Formats: sequence, structure tokens, C-alpha cells
Amino acid sequence: VLDQKKQMIEKAGILEMVPLKESMDDIGGLNNLKKWIGNKAKVLNDIKRAQDFGVDLPKGVLIAGVPGCGKSLNAKASAKLMGVPLLKLDMGRLMGKYVGESEKNMRRAIALAEAISPCVLWVDELEKAFAGIGGAGGAAEVTTRLFGQFLTWMQEKTSAVFVVATANDIMKLPPELMRKGRFDEIFYVQLPKETERKKIFEIHIGKRRPQDLEKIDLDRLVSKTEGYSGADIEGVVKEGIEDAFIQGHDAVTTKDFVEAIDSTHPLKEIMGDSIEKLEKEYK
Ligand code: ADP
Repeated sequence: VLDQKKQMIEKAGILEMVPLKESMDDIGGLNNLKKWIGNKAKVLNDIKRAQDFGVDLPKGVLIAGVPGCGKSLNAKASAKLMGVPLLKLDMGRLMGKYVGESEKNMRRAIALAEAISPCVLWVDELEKAFAGIGGAGGAAEVTTRLFGQFLTWMQEKTSAVFVVATANDIMKLPPELMRKGRFDEIFYVQLPKETERKKIFEIHIGKRRPQDLEKIDLDRLVSKTEGYSGADIEGVVKEGIEDAFIQGHDAVTTKDFVEAIDSTHPLKEIMGDSIEKLEKEYK
């Protein structure tokens, strides 16, 4: 059945079926979000009984915050936990050249997701999708109409399509999207704290060099990585392992990772003020 669904998606060409590799165990920290998604998964895994009991069908979640901190990872892991296909909606692909084409594509994308349901529909970089709303000119008008279409669908949705929307900067999103009744919940993802960084190091070292994990001084790595995102930490782990290999070592040591940390610039340093501004705005 999954194969059939995949073919259907590929043929239509407006949605992408993303393979499910990552699970919730691959995500360090973000415990509130993971727990919340776990609860929604319990409902979606048992829809008929839940609805008979009077539970409302989950609509979806908006995950916003700093880049590289596990938002996409959560979209992927949600579908895996729910045991349903993950469809990615790429707004760029929806936009057509001809009058009315974009709206038609949006209708087709929604109809397709509903036909495939139960599924997770992942709308990545939502702020980019709906940038320019309310502006003048042809393109802005199309975006505004698409946005209206999407909102109405979210509001009235009765199918088991669980929407996971991810965004780096929700300040760029129209406020209507944040109103109750659209998403069940909005989560803000920050740069990982100490305990979270430890878990992220553990996950990424454990994936690649499980035999070395026990000897690594994780606390030292954690104390040297204030301001690093999850993606930065993954980068450090990859680089440390590669360097150890190139230098012909038998095992990877704390020193290899420390050197990798010393030679990288974390997101907070690169983005500087804009991360702080983002954090303040979200607060
Ligand atoms: P974004 O928040 O921009 O969507 P991603 O979820 O795509 O970021 O993260 C990029 C990569 O960084 C992931 O594929 C993963 O390997 C790593 N990563 C980011 N956050 C975490 C985390 N909390 N736990 C484990 N790995 C993480």
C-alpha cells in the first residue's frame, strides 16, 4: 500500500515523500515537544477509538526557532512515531506560471495529502512560503490567496493529515496563522542547553563511533560548546572523527573533538546579534 501511495505522490509531482530514517531517540533534548507529539501519536495511532471517545482529531503543530536545532528532525521523527508517510510540501513547486495555476496546485496538494491520509504533511520554512502576503503586485496576490486557502483548510480540516510546519522566524508570518484553531500548539526551539548538548554529542558519537563513546569526556565538550546548535555539534563530531581517521589513529578521543570545536565557528557567532534578537522576540 505504501508503495502505491509513493507512486501516486511521485506521479503528481507537487509533494515529496520523505523516507523515514530518524526516530525520536535521535533527537537530543526538546522533551516537551517530544512528549506532546507522543500524545498526538497515541490519538492518530488509534483514530477510530479516539474519535468514538470524543477526542478531536489533531490538526498539527508549528515548530519555530533557531536554525539547526532539530525542527526538521522533529517533523521526520513524528511521522515515524505515528507510523504514517511523511509528505513534504514545497511551496516553490506550487507556484505556477499561469493565472490560477498556483491555487489549483495547492488544491491538488491538499487533495493528495487527504487521499494518502493518515499522514504527516510537513511544510518547511513556512515564513518563506508565505512571505510577501498582503503586498501589492501579482505574485503577492497569489501568495495571499494561497495563504487564505491553506488557513481555511487548516481551520476546517476533518482528515487525519497532521501538519508539521517549521519556521525559523515567525515574526515574518501573518498573525492569523498563530490564532487558536489553526495549529494545536506552537513550540519554540532554542539553542540547546548543557544537558541537551550532552545528549546530542552522545547521539552523534554513538551513531558513528559507539566503541569510543565511554572514554569521551562529554562534560568537557559540553562546556566548550555554549552557543552551538545541534547541527554545529553534529559538524564537530563528524570533523573530529574524520581527523582521527586521517591522522591514522585507532580510536577517536576527546582531544580530536576539542580540536574540531576550536576550529569551528558556531551559529551564535556567525549569526551574532540576529540570534539574540530572535530569542528576545520569541520571549
Ligand atoms: P532545523 O531546526 O533547521 O530544521 P534540523 O532538524 O534540520 O534543523 O537539524 C539539522 C541536523 O542537525 C539534523 O539532521 C541533526 O543531525 C542535527 N541536530 C539538530 N538538532 C538536533 C538535536 N536536538 N538532536 C540531535 N541532532 C540534532
